[in-house]
Amino acid sequence: RNRYSYFTQAMQESAQKRLSLIKDLRVALVKNQFKVYYQPIIEISSGHVYKVEALLRWLHPELGMISPAEFIPLAEETRNIIEIGAWVRTESATWCKRWKDMCTRPFQVSINRSPVEFMDDGGLASITRFIEQITKLGLTGNNFVLEITEGMLLNLSASVGKELIALRDAGIQVALDDFGTGYSSLSYLNKLDIDYLKIDRSFVSNLATNADDLVLCVAIIGMAHKLGLMVIAEGVETSEQNELLKQAGCDYAQGYFYSRPAPPEEMETWMMACNSKTV
Ligand code: C2E
Ligand code: CA
Ligand code: CA
Repeated sequence: RNRYSYFTQAMQESAQKRLSLIKDLRVALVKNQFKVYYQPIIEISSGHVYKVEALLRWLHPELGMISPAEFIPLAEETRNIIEIGAWVRTESATWCKRWKDMCTRPFQVSINRSPVEFMDDGGLASITRFIEQITKLGLTGNNFVLEITEGMLLNLSASVGKELIALRDAGIQVALDDFGTGYSSLSYLNKLDIDYLKIDRSFVSNLATNADDLVLCVAIIGMAHKLGLMVIAEGVETSEQNELLKQAGCDYAQGYFYSRPAPPEEMETWMMACNSKTV
C-alpha cells in the first residue's frame, strides 16, 4: 500500500511540474528567456566549418537551463512551437547573415523543424514568410537547411508535400535527422528531395567498440552516397570515432569532439580559429 501511495504522489508531482512548465512556456518568448545556441558541423575532409546547427535553449528564471528534450514536446503539445519556431528562424537568419559575410565559402545554418510546424495549416505560409525574410537580408535559400525527422515522412500528407516542394524551389536544403532510429521506409529517400542524412548518435557512440555499429555506419554512408545524399554523423565525441567515420567516407561530423553548442558570440570565435587552421 505504501508503495502505491508513494507512486501516486510522484505522479502528481510530475503532473504539477508539467502544468507549471506549460504555463511558464507560454510567456517565455515575450520574457526573452530563449536563446539560440549553435553547434558546428565540420567538413571532415578539410576540418573546416561552413555549417552550424541552431539549438534552442530556455533559461528558466527559477529552474535554470531546461533541456529542449524536455520542453519541445510540451511546446508541441500546446502548439506554442509554431511561434517559437518562427522566432528561432528569425534569430538564426540574423546570425547567418553576419557569418555568411565573413565566410569565403557558402555558409549554412541548419534549423530543426517540428512535425507540428510542418503539419500545421499555416505551415506553407510560414515557409513563404521565412523566404521573404531572408531575401530582405540578402540571403538565399542556399544559406539554410531544415532538419526533419523520419516519422514526418511516413504519413506524408499533401500539405507536407507542398511544403517540401516550396523548400526545394527556394533552394533550402533538407536533412533527415536521427536517421536509423525510426521505422525507416527507405523508399522516400528516392522520392523526396532530401540532401543530407544525419546518422543518429546511438550508432556513432559505440563505433569503436561495437563492430556491428561500424558496419551499419559504413552501410548507411554507402547507400546515401549512391542515392546522391551527403552524410552528417551526430554525437561524435572522440578522435577515434572521427577517424573511423573519415575512413568510412562520411562527409560531415558534429559533436562534443569538436565543440558543444555555444552562444553565437562564442561560436563565432571558435569558427574563426577553426577555419584559420590549415589541415
Ligand atoms: P537533435 O536535433 O538531434 O540535436 C542534437 C542534440 O544532440 C542536441 O541536444 C545536441 O546538444 C546534442 N549533442 C550534440 N553533440 C553531442 C555529443 O557529442 N554527445 C552528446 N551526448 N550529445 C550531443 P539538445 O540541444 O539538447 O537538443 C535536443 C533536441 O531538441 C534536438 O535534438 C531537437 O530535436 C530538439 N530541438 C532543439 N532545438 C530545437 C528547435 O529550435 N526546434 C525544434 N523543433 N526542436 C529543437
Ligand atoms: Ca537536429
Ligand atoms: Ca539528431
